[in-house]
Amino acid sequence: MSVFDALIGQDHAVAELKRAASGNSMTHAWLITGPPGSGRSTSALAFAAALVCPNGGCGTCVDCLNAIAGVHVDIEHIVPEGIIYSIDDTKALIERAALAPSRSHWHVIVIEDVDRFRNDAASVLLKSLEEPPPGTVWLLCAPTSDDVFETIRSRCRQVVLTSPTLESIAQQLTNRYGIEKDLALFSARAAQGHIGRAKAIATDELVRQRRNEILDMPNRVHSVVSCFEMAATIVANANADTDSIVEPLDIQDEKNIRTAYGDGVEGFKGVERQIKSAVKALEKRAKDRRRRVLSDQYDRVLLDLTGFYRDVLIIQSGSDLLLINEELRPKIEKLAQTSSSAETLKRIDVIRETRDNLLANVNPVSAFESMLVTFRNPQLLSSGS
Ligand SMILES: [Zn+2]
Repeated sequence: MSVFDALIGQDHAVAELKRAASGNSMTHAWLITGPPGSGRSTSALAFAAALVCPNGGCGTCVDCLNAIAGVHVDIEHIVPEGIIYSIDDTKALIERAALAPSRSHWHVIVIEDVDRFRNDAASVLLKSLEEPPPGTVWLLCAPTSDDVFETIRSRCRQVVLTSPTLESIAQQLTNRYGIEKDLALFSARAAQGHIGRAKAIATDELVRQRRNEILDMPNRVHSVVSCFEMAATIVANANADTDSIVEPLDIQDEKNIRTAYGDGVEGFKGVERQIKSAVKALEKRAKDRRRRVLSDQYDRVLLDLTGFYRDVLIIQSGSDLLLINEELRPKIEKLAQTSSSAETLKRIDVIRETRDNLLANVNPVSAFESMLVTFRNPQLLSSGS
């Protein structure tokens, strides 16, 4: 077993990261790039675990388990809170980054979406990359290296992930989770190559049901009232699904902390106070996690709808490419015949706009309402947006 097992079709990158984790040609700053769903953050977090594990990422020791659970003291996982990284948060991060590791050789800082650093915050980060504290490793993630400032990019060693093929994702679903072949292939295709999403579709009936509901929405935008009702449903379901994902993790986190402090062991009473303060620190982590999971739920809705209209566009352009939603072909053909490709493009545009609005903290119900109302009448989309 290894912390790298979860990575699919990235043998080249995994070999390089393993070599570095074992102490050969280690570097202080890394840039991990790859298309959405290729496993950028999975790779970075696996590498982080391998760096704090005394056995190079065995996947079974306490360091690996804490790393996988997201509670290792020497790993910090940074995700942007808004559309960009603020300069104050970046300064605070740089201060923390200067601290020596507590129990491992490395203090690892994983930063997602490095493309969301603007000039001022990027120059603060750059300073630390130029003169890295001796025990600190930066693992930066971005879709492509072009998205990252040249000054930052040039300080990093780059690891490039590729999009796994649908077949390799399906194979992995069968090998790891015993998913039957047809469902595995369907899930890989429906997830548009996004590994985490493919697993959820393959293994969770509720996820498949939610997906069907979402894909039915473009056919149900008859009235503005129905658009409003569907927007409320999207947000309510996303929140309910988020709770059912994060609640067990929150409980597990607290259990891990108690175990780490020797709960159940004789003399345990003495550390009850430390546990309380550790649990308090976990509350912020839990809040961040909930925000992240909820935003993933919204992303899924948008990804499914983008795939749906991409299919409509394929039919409208007369192409015979395989549809993402092949099983919905009759419905998609009908929509393709009753609307124009210009309208389809506007609908795809408004999905992109909705994603930006959600990132900018627009009220989710309003964001989805305006998306669905624009599906109903694409002329509402202001030109130039
Ligand atoms: Zn380990």
